[in-house]
Amino acid sequence: MAEGKPTLNLDSRLQFACHPGLPCFTHCCRDVNIYLTPFDVLRMRKKLGLSSREFLERYTVTLVGEGTGLPVVALKMDEERDKKCPFVTAQGCQIYDERPWACRMFPLDKYSEYEFGLLTDVSRCKGLAEPRELSVEDYLKEQGVLLYEEVEATFKLVSSSPRVLAQKIVNPRIVEMFYMACYDLDRFRRFVFESRFLEIFEIEPEEIARVKEDDLELLQLGFRWLQFGLVIGDALKIRDRVLEEAKKKQKAAGGGEG
Ligand code: SF4
Ligand code: SF4
Repeated sequence: MAEGKPTLNLDSRLQFACHPGLPCFTHCCRDVNIYLTPFDVLRMRKKLGLSSREFLERYTVTLVGEGTGLPVVALKMDEERDKKCPFVTAQGCQIYDERPWACRMFPLDKYSEYEFGLLTDVSRCKGLAEPRELSVEDYLKEQGVLLYEEVEATFKLVSSSPRVLAQKIVNPRIVEMFYMACYDLDRFRRFVFESRFLEIFEIEPEEIARVKEDDLELLQLGFRWLQFGLVIGDALKIRDRVLEEAKKKQKAAGGGEG
């Protein structure tokens, strides 16, 4: 299988096993670009018992997405430990159960929903010569990758929306809102409950109660809010009262139909 080309599909066979007995064990956890998804950030900081702000400051760097202009969060390698991942030890990954999506995928690269390739080869990743074979689909299941597709479906719709890609976001306020809703969830929760958010948007009381307690619910609300602002206006419903007030203001300012 050639490196860097989408030569695999979900049914393809993958020969691979990773374990501490291999001479390359943990070598792939050094000097590597690991982009974190919103669900990664949520899981990792919970595992570490940190607030979203503490986690982001301590363990990440923020970059600008090439196509979208939106913020992208990457894991900060430890410069003082030869650019190793901050979570790697000689025994392996300290946060293995909550490791990021990119680490779950390795050694696979994803090109589209059904197309994959290999990120490395057997000269560097000895696991590719281990006597265990399974389908790509079973590997993804085993690694817990499919849950991400469920949790981040709306996020994917927003970040890959032709509308977002076409305009390339440059407004710093939108960039900040995106960062808050996707990654800095403690701040987003304060925003939801301490700003006019709940006065403006019609959200069922049951959902409000869930969002108060559950970060995953809060994340979903954040995705819908971004979808509302960046992609389609009916992802969240604005209260009738708010719409009427806005119409009145517009009229008073000389706009509208009259
Ligand atoms: S290089 Fe491959 S086999 Fe070696 S530790 Fe990394 S994933 Fe496992
Ligand atoms: S998070 Fe874990 S699996 Fe991923 S690079 Fe760091 S130590 Fe390795």
